[in-house]
Amino acid sequence: MPTDLDVVGTIVAKRDGLELPAADLKKLVRAYTEGRVPDYQLSAFLMAGFLRGFTHAEAAALTQAFVESGECLDLSALAGPTVDKHSTGGVSDGTTLVVAPLVAAAGMQLLKLSGRGLGHTGGTIDKLESVPGLRTDLSPQELFDQVERVGLAVGAQTAEVVPADKAIYALRDVTGTIDNVALIASSIMSKKLAGGASAIVIDVKVGSGAFMKDLEAASELASVCVALGTGAGRSVRAVISDMNQPLGDMVGNAIEVGEAIEVLRGEREGRLKDLSIELAAELAVLARLAPDLDAARDRVAKVLSSGSALERFGRFIEAQGGDPRVTEDVTLLPTAPVVAEVRAAAQGWLAAVDTAAVGSAAGHLGAGRRRKEDTIDPSVGLELSVKLGDEVQRGTVIGRVFAADEGAAEAAAAELLSALHWSERPAPSLPLIYHRA
Ligand code: URA
Repeated sequence: MPTDLDVVGTIVAKRDGLELPAADLKKLVRAYTEGRVPDYQLSAFLMAGFLRGFTHAEAAALTQAFVESGECLDLSALAGPTVDKHSTGGVSDGTTLVVAPLVAAAGMQLLKLSGRGLGHTGGTIDKLESVPGLRTDLSPQELFDQVERVGLAVGAQTAEVVPADKAIYALRDVTGTIDNVALIASSIMSKKLAGGASAIVIDVKVGSGAFMKDLEAASELASVCVALGTGAGRSVRAVISDMNQPLGDMVGNAIEVGEAIEVLRGEREGRLKDLSIELAAELAVLARLAPDLDAARDRVAKVLSSGSALERFGRFIEAQGGDPRVTEDVTLLPTAPVVAEVRAAAQGWLAAVDTAAVGSAAGHLGAGRRRKEDTIDPSVGLELSVKLGDEVQRGTVIGRVFAADEGAAEAAAAELLSALHWSERPAPSLPLIYHRA
């Protein structure tokens, strides 16, 4: 397969730990995306880079190459300020559903391309599609027009945006080369840069339900993402937040939308609300709508308490074809036929949560997909209403299971209980945010 790049030489140079010129990395990414470099050569290159590491200049070149592989959204004609957010993924992470209307109501414009993804529950797109009638297959023009009218639009990521990342991520997934900070950061930031927003906040999750299990790796990922975004001329901040327990109480699709609506209605306190306010406030500072985080938090808290963020969420749902009455009545969302309570077996303090196992329990109920072709049941999932450090008595209701049948409910309740570790002595809670970069 002809290419003007010495592919073997490039692999050998990376294998030997040399820094590659930006031009060579761009040619390699391009040639692979166009089918001129086979999987086996790119796999060897990725593994060499995984073992030897990539410099910042190399990560920046990869990011740019990914961005240039497809279409980029041009938001410059919007009045702005244009903002975007990304989370590296976790369990019960419905922050986009809350942050999006918060920032729109606070004077920002958010055009977000989001993935479905594989995982314990669906991605933001799947969660939104649990709203009856809501569509996410909007064209760039439809998204753009909607942002002008409503201040926010969320569409499904298409194959035209950053196709190189899509292809290379799939290859990394089957070659043991996912967990490399430079590769993860360039994958994430290429999608954000192609999305066109001027201000971007990245929520890097750390803990038992996250990609990043330790704080050091999460901090490194956060700083690399910020450096790549800033280097490309955007205003970027990263927040490193806890994922040693589900963020909210609900783990599923429709039930996470319901939970977000309750936060927007002012009926639900807790970590989902607190983190959403922090992320929206970070964006308000980046967008220069507030001089500092305290002023930004006030601005965001006001649009939450006044009901204007809830009203904005209703307009957004209606604009995308969904039934906006769900903002007044969450029972209009799909509901599971079986709802079963889960009770504590003994008195104790919640000391640790295997968060990935909680996610898996929801996945086994049908809330997520293991393969691209799987379909999601929007109505099923779990509720875990205790947080680390909480004390319960024997028999206290600690959660609920929303299932398609009794058998599935019983199995999920057992899975949920075995993901929780109790202590006979008081156990500490954990911070919500560890660092910012
Ligand atoms: N999320 C991404 O978008 N890319 C990665 O490489 C890892 C997580």
